[in-house]
Amino acid sequence: MAGGEGKRLRPLTDKLPKPLLPINERPLLDFLIEHSVRNGADNIIVCTGYLAEKVAEHIEKQDYGTFIRESRETTPLGTAGPLLPIKNELESEFIVLYSDVYTTVDLKKMLEFHTQKKSDATLLLHKSDHPQDSTVVTVDSSSRITGFVEKPGSEWKEHGNLTSAALYVLNKSVVDFIDTGKELDFAKDVFPQMLREGKKLYGYVSEEYTKDMGTAERYKEVEAYDAAAAKKMQKRIAVFLDRDGVINEEVDLLTKKEQLKLIPGAAEGIRLLNEKGILAIVVTNQPVVARNLVTEEQLLQIHRKLRGMLEEKGAHIDALYYCPHHPEKNHTEANNPKYRRECRCRKPNTGMVEQAAKTFKIDTKNSYVVGDETVDVQLGKNAGCTTILASTGYAGKDGKHEAKADYDCSNLNEACKLIAKLTGEKRK
Ligand SMILES: [Zn+2]
Repeated sequence: MAGGEGKRLRPLTDKLPKPLLPINERPLLDFLIEHSVRNGADNIIVCTGYLAEKVAEHIEKQDYGTFIRESRETTPLGTAGPLLPIKNELESEFIVLYSDVYTTVDLKKMLEFHTQKKSDATLLLHKSDHPQDSTVVTVDSSSRITGFVEKPGSEWKEHGNLTSAALYVLNKSVVDFIDTGKELDFAKDVFPQMLREGKKLYGYVSEEYTKDMGTAERYKEVEAYDAAAAKKMQKRIAVFLDRDGVINEEVDLLTKKEQLKLIPGAAEGIRLLNEKGILAIVVTNQPVVARNLVTEEQLLQIHRKLRGMLEEKGAHIDALYYCPHHPEKNHTEANNPKYRRECRCRKPNTGMVEQAAKTFKIDTKNSYVVGDETVDVQLGKNAGCTTILASTGYAGKDGKHEAKADYDCSNLNEACKLIAKLTGEKRK
């Protein structure tokens, strides 16, 4: 939710929309997107309003490598209303983040809690140090929400000190409570109404750092926290994997999930990386989008299927980045300027590796690229990684780039065994 005016942050927000306020030089919006991707999100909608053009322009320029799009409200609809125009695009369960709330909460765990409780709406709750003048949320022993108490004053002790941190996991059915044509607020209108109608609302209590940075003072606090947290975060080693011809069989322009077939040993290789604590990150050029052969929505379904096939064999992909672009402009049948352009993400450009490195704090120089094409080898050289060419797929015979790989391996499994050996040696 990135449409708020940020009145309390003026004059900072006179010309700059709140989501683009920098937290140690990185817009809060980007921080939240990275945090979501780190937690497994692969389908993100940015709801804009105030200074929407600036937010949209920023999103367009970023080449995030994931399925992100903008939905713009024409009249302000409150904190809940922006869900209406996107109601047909919502997943059965989805997470709502506000672009003035900085959070480090484990979204994966919170989503698991929501699913386990069969909750209709799960609110992130934390202990407030000023419950007297806040809306206190009361819960029973199973964490089910029993009520909301507006500014209880000195009676707060009867109700506890839990307040909502404005971060929710919701079921799609919540939209039924928003479809009223009126400006609606989650805390004041939607959740109390759901409670009255017997819906299941749960409180997820977490003390992980979450802060509304709606005032200049809090904004400073968040920035100080973020700087300290960044220093503490350990750099990790990653393997950047190509998709077609490395994980799944090369079929020359894969456009349907039914065409996905795992290359023998691919899952075993990725599982070995998981066991060694090495990040497994897919970086793939998908010009099929620019060529109008698949939509990004269809590509998302293909990728979910691929990840599911690997999960069945106990192998986990930490993130998957794709480039939907193609630079050629002389195609009248597929000329969407959103995709027909130069970009930073198309391999051998290093945009996807850089995006992943920012998100997961990756030690790129000690990381690896595994691919079956010379473009992957060139990517590895450009990014400063060690390169491994797999003899599956094109087996390096595409002849597009001159770069020579540091190592050759028969397939991904062999490449991962080599990586485990090389990183093991370095650690000694
Ligand atoms: Zn691109």
